[in-house]
Amino acid sequence: MKVKKVRISAEILFDGEGHIRRNVRLTLFGGRVVSIEEKIDRRREDAEIRLDSALVLPGFVNAHTHLELSRHQAEVKDADFIEWLYQMRLKLDAATKEELTKAALKGIEESLSSGTSALVEHTNAEASLSPLLEAPLRSVIAFEAVGYNQTDVKKERILAHLRGVKKNDMHRLAIAPHSLYRASEDLLRFCADVASKNSLLISCHISETKEEVEFFKYGTGRFRSLLERFGAIPYLPNPSGKSPLLLLDDLNLLTERTLLVHCNYPEGNDFALIKKRGATVVYCPRSHSFFRHSPHPLELFLEQDIPVIFGTDSLASTPSLSILDELKFVKRERPALPAEKLLSLATRTAARLILGEEFGVIREGAPADLCAIKLPHHPASDNSPLELALHPESEVNLTVVGGKVVFQK
Ligand SMILES: [Zn+2]
Repeated sequence: MKVKKVRISAEILFDGEGHIRRNVRLTLFGGRVVSIEEKIDRRREDAEIRLDSALVLPGFVNAHTHLELSRHQAEVKDADFIEWLYQMRLKLDAATKEELTKAALKGIEESLSSGTSALVEHTNAEASLSPLLEAPLRSVIAFEAVGYNQTDVKKERILAHLRGVKKNDMHRLAIAPHSLYRASEDLLRFCADVASKNSLLISCHISETKEEVEFFKYGTGRFRSLLERFGAIPYLPNPSGKSPLLLLDDLNLLTERTLLVHCNYPEGNDFALIKKRGATVVYCPRSHSFFRHSPHPLELFLEQDIPVIFGTDSLASTPSLSILDELKFVKRERPALPAEKLLSLATRTAARLILGEEFGVIREGAPADLCAIKLPHHPASDNSPLELALHPESEVNLTVVGGKVVFQK
């Protein structure tokens, strides 16, 4: 990507690693931050982009989404998860590739305007693939493995996907075994093998509902009838009293490169296992609330040093694709959590785990992925600008990816 030099003058900068600087001039070139000058006289500033009463911070990472479902906004309301899942499958099967591509384009635009510089996409129909490869947004495109029988076709498509897409700094590939219940045991083992051989990130919905946990432990409950409707039962592991996370580990899918999407109902021993394997939890706050789950064990994970990062999930279960909106929601529900912690997890922690060590921090030499949040009022000295960034009226007014301005308001 060819980029020109961009200078940004900002009142407040949060680097993602705990440092706040004031009155800064950032110079971006060649996709990177080339200099950060501090305490400049902003009255004489002639930078192309001037940000007053705004906080500049690393770009948000949306660690879980399904852009192909972006057209379903408001179509399914406040649903029971099991019925919702069934209905979504019918809708996805009935959609044309054009409709799904259009949905993905809408989702990309919405992501850019909400400060997202990188996202992890579960592509089911491969309709989001081309739009993402052309978008000025970093993406990890996870091929969703779904299927019970005739999975050889699916396996071949996964391998073709891996061979066919050229990886670069903007786009990477990953594998998304949808869940323990939407893919056969055989297909799940194949995913583990492919991920291991190609050092791929694994993204998997896990322990999302109480019913899922009950089904895998005892083979009973409402999930069983859903899976009977899918014709899945013969292809799934036999109930053995093990939690879904233990089963995931048995399948070699619980690794330090695994994103545990939702993980709403971990059991006692699951915490130690997740920590031992070094996996990451992805919490989708408003989607979680949409399905009226029990409170997410976010603090329990954090207390045990298990990283938790944030995703929106699709527009079929959350009102927007904005990670800032997700964080505002978490802050409202859990006011004791410091804004700095939430913003760091959603930027630096997520980028480091998903993209690599040099991402998600604003420092000289680092990739220039950042955004700016317009604050509702000027931060008084005792009023942290980071807390103000999560005020209901704050809004993203700039997104820069790889040194290129991709959204400005
Ligand atoms: Zn999902």
